[in-house]
Amino acid sequence: MIRIISCVLLLVGASAALGQDESRIQYLANEGVMVSHAETSILFDPLFNNSYGQYQLVPDAMREAIMTGTPPYDGIDAVFISHYHDDHFSAVDVLQLLKAQTGIHLYAPTQAVVALREVAGDSDEDVFERVTGLDLEYGDAPVEIITKQLTIDAVVIPHSGWPTARTDVQNIVFRVTLDDSSTVMHMGDADPRIVHFAADEEYWEDKRVDLALPPYWFFGTSDGREILEERINIRHSIGIHVPDKYANPDNVPAELARYEIFTRPGEGRRFRR
Ligand SMILES: [Zn+2]
Repeated sequence: MIRIISCVLLLVGASAALGQDESRIQYLANEGVMVSHAETSILFDPLFNNSYGQYQLVPDAMREAIMTGTPPYDGIDAVFISHYHDDHFSAVDVLQLLKAQTGIHLYAPTQAVVALREVAGDSDEDVFERVTGLDLEYGDAPVEIITKQLTIDAVVIPHSGWPTARTDVQNIVFRVTLDDSSTVMHMGDADPRIVHFAADEEYWEDKRVDLALPPYWFFGTSDGREILEERINIRHSIGIHVPDKYANPDNVPAELARYEIFTRPGEGRRFRR
């Protein structure tokens, strides 16, 4: 496949109106992002409390605005959790968000839903009507869920460390199309080996991804680069899960310098389908 270098990503002015086929992504922190198209908005991995001493946390003001549904975080339709690790997911905070914002539907691996149930009380039962737990294992066929605004494809790709570490983690790669327009892919902490993406070529070829969000380590291996450039049908990638120190460009390793990465909470881009 020919690699297409996209020139459709534009620096965004936060208040500028979006055209019909334009979508917007805003970086929260670590692997947290908001993606919006028209009146549809979704969040990936937005609430977590552990930086492990090297990743960014969502700034307090941003986090508070998410919780209270203050613009631009009003009218969020869905929240996606890639996996249940503490630098991606806080069960207490996600439960609080679902209780505060009753229009939000949650899509998460069953491991995260189990954690959510552990912190929920009897009076929280109605929250779980808006929770879809994805009981997927490595090797399972992808699932597709279609809602009024979203087409959601989900498949497990093992967590980095495979095949010797963290093999018990359900790490979900979500491919989500908003309003039959833009398609984004959030990859969680996927392991960057071709073998995971070679098993179901048709699935990956089937849909064009306008913007993929790989963990930055995909840029650092030949397998990872081949996956992004040739195997999973994506127009453009922005790396996430970037260590805090890379917010200073002087600290970005040379092999990453030619790739786009998110390093500052609140930064954003527009993109087109
Ligand atoms: Zn993880």
